[in-house]
Amino acid sequence: MTTLQNAINGTSSSVAVIIPSKPSPLTVTYKDLLAECSSFQRKLAALGITEASPVSIATVNSYEFIVSFLATSWQRGIAAPLNPAYKQDEFEFYIEDIQSAIVLVPKGAYQAGAPSVKAAKKFNAAIAECYWDGAKGEVALDVKELGKLKGKSRESVLQAQPDDVALVLHTSGTTSRPKVVPLTHRNLTRTMKNIQATYQLTAQDRTMLVMPLFHVHGLLCALLAPLYSGGSMIIPTKFSASEFWQDFVAHKANWYTAVPTIHQILLKSPAPSPVPNIRFIRSCSSPLSPTVFHQLEEKFKAPVLEAYAMTEAAHQMTSNPLPPNKRKPGTVGLGQGVEVKILNDAGDELPQGSEGEICIKGENVTKGYLNNPSANASSFTKGGFFRTGDQGKKDEDGYIIITGRIKELINKGGEKISPIELDNVLTKHPAVSEAVSFAIPDDLYGQDIGVAIVLKNGAKLEQEELRKWVSEKLAKFKTPKKIYFTEVMPKTATGKIQRRIVAETMQKQES
Ligand code: ATP
Ligand code: MG
Repeated sequence: MTTLQNAINGTSSSVAVIIPSKPSPLTVTYKDLLAECSSFQRKLAALGITEASPVSIATVNSYEFIVSFLATSWQRGIAAPLNPAYKQDEFEFYIEDIQSAIVLVPKGAYQAGAPSVKAAKKFNAAIAECYWDGAKGEVALDVKELGKLKGKSRESVLQAQPDDVALVLHTSGTTSRPKVVPLTHRNLTRTMKNIQATYQLTAQDRTMLVMPLFHVHGLLCALLAPLYSGGSMIIPTKFSASEFWQDFVAHKANWYTAVPTIHQILLKSPAPSPVPNIRFIRSCSSPLSPTVFHQLEEKFKAPVLEAYAMTEAAHQMTSNPLPPNKRKPGTVGLGQGVEVKILNDAGDELPQGSEGEICIKGENVTKGYLNNPSANASSFTKGGFFRTGDQGKKDEDGYIIITGRIKELINKGGEKISPIELDNVLTKHPAVSEAVSFAIPDDLYGQDIGVAIVLKNGAKLEQEELRKWVSEKLAKFKTPKKIYFTEVMPKTATGKIQRRIVAETMQKQES
């Protein structure tokens, strides 16, 4: 089971996908899903899509996304999902980087001259609208322009191989220009198996899928791992706090995975009473503060399992385990089918408790970035471990604690300060809703500490009071120099904090 095609394990009559659209939901069995993927694969083959053809998919979470993604990989093509909300410049950046053969866009996008369409034209990619055609009961592939596929001969239907690249995604661009990560069928199926094993996913599980499918979090953990386990997925077009519990209850979901921002929104929104039976809640992609961890467990009466993931690892590296094993707030748990070591710059393993770079090895990890020899040279150790760029340590039970990103550590005259440690102390203050710490230039120390703070509704707080709060809890040199109060915290589409962007925005607002 090392290709996506043979790693889908639902029995034919069981439900794979529920799209809870109004007035009636679309419900698809495994049998119908597989038949639809085969049919779509034939349509792609007829257009000339073949081994290594990049197929960009710029649609929202939907049945057509799933079918076009799977069918592309079956045809040995490379699926390249793109955030449909990108502006034209962003589409151009990604379509050029990926050299898309075709861009799949939603119904009506061509006529409307959508940004994805304009960008596809600029790079001569074929353009096709891809949508669920309810009347015909099939996923349509309505070709509008052939672009560089013009004159291509019909291809036969192919059989994917384990080492074919099935997916390319860009990293989030938190620390530098987004890097292009190719992932093979073998990488993806390894993660599917690892996630199934971590959470003991079975055909009885029903996933509420609220993360976008154009990043590894939603795609691997909420879609592909459940397909491997034979379970069902409930897939609204996008996350909405008001509809979350409605769909969750109506379709009997029993777990979900999300970024901390979504958990926080759910904490602030009304929840059904009594809360439905939730087997577990998974948090990943950004640090979950222990405060939010406890609030979630308390409010939703379910174990909260924080995990740690990155694009280069086809998502998951570590996770806190299910009960009765210990889960530890403030840690990201243990390697799950992935070897994890803390290494120093020279590549030597550090003893338990010492901070160094978190490094990983496993069948899920990419062989290397596309067209980026310098990043590849610095990302792998001699022993074949991948350097994550994250700083961390192991606690006495081997649980991993992330202390920051190596590139984001605040270096105040040689004292390294973990922005995550500081964020956690700041968010414990009763008036603080969100806190993000970052380096600011300083004449004396080279760098000093800046923090951006969003206050809770109606709360008031003086700068001095916040400094006193920190100085009572952390060493004096960790007291912030500049405090920027802001109404909203800048975030990416997936709710990720980009410290670099927060720092730039705050300093710009000030000047
Ligand atoms: P770039 O590599 O382009 O700078 P990025 O690293 O943000 O961007 P992603 O692959 O989307 O791109 O994110 C992976 C990173 O997210 C990890 O390296 C880690 O820093 C962070 N991360 C993931 N899970 C957690 C977590 N539970 N706690 C803290 N950080 C996390
Ligand atoms: Mg990264």
